[in-house]
Amino acid sequence: MIHEHRVLNPATEELVATVPATTAEEVAVAVTRAAAAQRTWAALAPADRARLLRRFAVLVDEHAERLARLEVTEAGHTLGNARWEAANVRDLLDYAAGGVERLTGRQIPVPGGIDVTFLEPLGVVGVIAPWNFPLPIAAWGAAPALAAGNAVLLKPAETTPLTALRLARLALDAGLPEHLFQVLPGAGDVAGNALVEHPGVAKIVFTGSTRVGKQIMARCAQRVKRLTLELGGKSPNIVFADADIEAAAAAAPMSFLDNAGQDCCARTRILVQRSVYDRFLEHLVPAVASVAVGDPSDEETQMGPLISRAQLERVRTLVPEDADGIRGSAPGGPGFWFPPTVLTGIAPDAPVATDEVFGPVAVVLPFEDEDDAVRLANATEYGLAGSIWTRDVGRALRVSRAVRAGNLSVNSHSAVRYWTPFGGYRQSGLGRELGPDALAAFTETKNVFIGTEA
Ligand code: NAD
Repeated sequence: MIHEHRVLNPATEELVATVPATTAEEVAVAVTRAAAAQRTWAALAPADRARLLRRFAVLVDEHAERLARLEVTEAGHTLGNARWEAANVRDLLDYAAGGVERLTGRQIPVPGGIDVTFLEPLGVVGVIAPWNFPLPIAAWGAAPALAAGNAVLLKPAETTPLTALRLARLALDAGLPEHLFQVLPGAGDVAGNALVEHPGVAKIVFTGSTRVGKQIMARCAQRVKRLTLELGGKSPNIVFADADIEAAAAAAPMSFLDNAGQDCCARTRILVQRSVYDRFLEHLVPAVASVAVGDPSDEETQMGPLISRAQLERVRTLVPEDADGIRGSAPGGPGFWFPPTVLTGIAPDAPVATDEVFGPVAVVLPFEDEDDAVRLANATEYGLAGSIWTRDVGRALRVSRAVRAGNLSVNSHSAVRYWTPFGGYRQSGLGRELGPDALAAFTETKNVFIGTEA
C-alpha cells in the first residue's frame, strides 16, 4: 500500500512535498467525527452558519495570492488562471453563504390541514476531486454542501492535495466547527473508495474520468447513495459560414489550450462549414502560433505543462505523429510539456476525434450544413459543453437546442460561472453543480402534513 504521495512541480519535475496517504481506517474515523460536527453545524441559526462561511470567504480572499501560487506550483496552472481560481472559491463561498437563509421549503394547499416541505441536510458528504482544477472543483462541492448544513470530507487527487489542505486550515481559522470540513489526501482506490463504501457518507460528488465515475456509480447503487458525477467531454466548437470567421479563429486556440487542454469543457472538436474551412484555417495558424507556452509563474504565459508524466504519455499515445496539422512550440528540458496541436484530415471516428485527450490537442472537421453540424456535434457519447459561432440568431438558438450538451455558448467560449448551473448530458455526468439550485442538491425534501380538523 502507498503510505505517502509525492507532489511534483509539473513545470520542473522538482519535489514540492510529500503528503501522507489516508487509510480506509482513518476515513472511518473521519466520518464519525464529521457526523458529530454536522449535528452541531446544522443546529446553528442559519444567519450564524452564513456568517461563518462569509468569514471563510474573507480568509480565502486574504490568502488568495498564496493559494494561487500553490496552485501554480503543484498543478502547473498559469498564474492568471490560478488567481481566477482562488477568486472563484472566495466568490462561491460568498454565494453559498447567501443561500443559507434562502433554503426554504414550500407550503402546498391540501384539504383538512396544511402541508409543508423541509429541505434537510443529507449529513456527511464525500467530495472526490480531480487534479485538473483542484481548488475550484473542491469548492464547487464543499461550499454548497456546507451551506446546506452538511459536513464535507474532501479527497483531493493524489498529485494535487496541497491547496485543499490549505483550504481546510482556513475553514478552521474562520471558526467552522472542528472536523466539519476535513481533507483526506490519498489514493483513489483506498481513501476515495472508503468514502464511497462507507454507510455514514450520504452523498458522493465525483469529478474525474468517465471510467472511474461509472465504477463509483455502481458502488453507490449498492446503498442507493446520492451521487453527482462530472465526467469527461469532447466538446464541439461549431463555426458556420455566416460567422465572424476572424473572431472565431482568434478565439478557438484558448478554448482548448486553456489549462493545457486538461479541461472537461475543452472545445477539442472544431467543426467548420466547408465553404469557409480554408479561410478559417488561414486565420487559425497564426492564432495558435501566438499562444505563449512556458513557465506558468510568468504573468504573460497562457499555457503551462501537463500535470504528470503519465498524462504526457497518455496524450502522446492518442496523437498520431504523422498526422497533418498545426503545431505550436513548447519548452524542452524538464517538465511535462506538449505543444499546442491542431490536427486536420482526421476521420471523425478516429480515437483522437472521439476520445477525451485531456491535453492541448484539437481536431478540425468540415461539415456541409446545419443538419450535418448537429449530427457531427452529437456523434459522441459525451455531452458537456459546446460553442456555436453564427450571426443568425435563429440558427444560434436552433443549434443550441439541438446539441445534446449541458453548457453551450454562442459567439464565445463562456467560462463556468458559479451562479449558473453546470453539468453534463449522457456520459459527461449526472446532476448539476453551481447555480441557484446548488444547495438543494445537498438536501432531502421532507413532506409534512399537519391535520387541522381534530
Ligand atoms: P481519475 O478519474 O482516476 O481520478 C479522479 C479522482 O478520483 C482522483 O481524486 C482519484 O484519486 C479518484 N479515484 C480514482 N479511482 C477511484 C476509485 N476507485 N474510487 C474512488 N475514487 C477514485 O482521473 P485520472 O486518472 O487522474 O485522469 C484520467 C483521465 O480522466 C484524464 O486523462 C481525463 O481524460 C479524465 N479526467 C477528467 C476530469 C474532468 O474534469 N472531467 C478530471 C480529471 C481527469
